[in-house]
Amino acid sequence: MEILKYPSPNFGSRREDTKIQFIILHYTAMDKQSSLDRLCSPDYEVSCHYLIDSGGTCYQLVDDNKRAWHAGKSFWRGLRDINSRSLGIELVNSGNEAYPKAQMESLMVLLRDLLAIHKISPQNVLGHSDIAPSRKTDPGKWFDWRLLSENGLAILPKVSLPIDTDKQSFLLDAQRAGFEPEATFEQILQAFRSRCRTNFEGAFDGYDCALMKKFADIFDVDELSNPQ
Ligand SMILES: [Zn+2]
Repeated sequence: MEILKYPSPNFGSRREDTKIQFIILHYTAMDKQSSLDRLCSPDYEVSCHYLIDSGGTCYQLVDDNKRAWHAGKSFWRGLRDINSRSLGIELVNSGNEAYPKAQMESLMVLLRDLLAIHKISPQNVLGHSDIAPSRKTDPGKWFDWRLLSENGLAILPKVSLPIDTDKQSFLLDAQRAGFEPEATFEQILQAFRSRCRTNFEGAFDGYDCALMKKFADIFDVDELSNPQ
């Protein structure tokens, strides 16, 4: 896939004790040109590594080895400074519309390459709302996590039965997965549903709990254990 260079001056150095271990997905909430202008404007001090427009054209704004400014105040699995540990991909989308097929296909080609080059695990492909549930809602409920998951490029828990509806266990599982402990129950539920239970707006229930438990189980493995 051809990647067009569109250099942004908005970047710095990664912190020395970090490596690229996450990919964070965003929507721009603006049209393509306004997005590119803002991501390249020194006045706004925001940027990302890649931007994919609705037709699937991919731009590179910041080199992978530099620290782009897309995550802001964020947290995942005990780690803060996610900008130092991640690549940021912006998708041109208003937040209220489907992501076109051409855009998703370019994203999958890009993700496949980046996961291989940087040896990133699919479980570390996250949404901005996962790492900042109290502030952010992107990539939002129109983003097709299932498609990424079916292609081995992200994870999405599946369950067939509910478990007990219990707020406390839900929050404990959310922390076990990696969500920031300071976020409220409502913020986490909203962020989690926008990824795992799109368009469901009913009351908190046993399926939310079962999905969060499954989600946490995927992350909560002893990284030193040998699966053999
Ligand atoms: Zn974002």
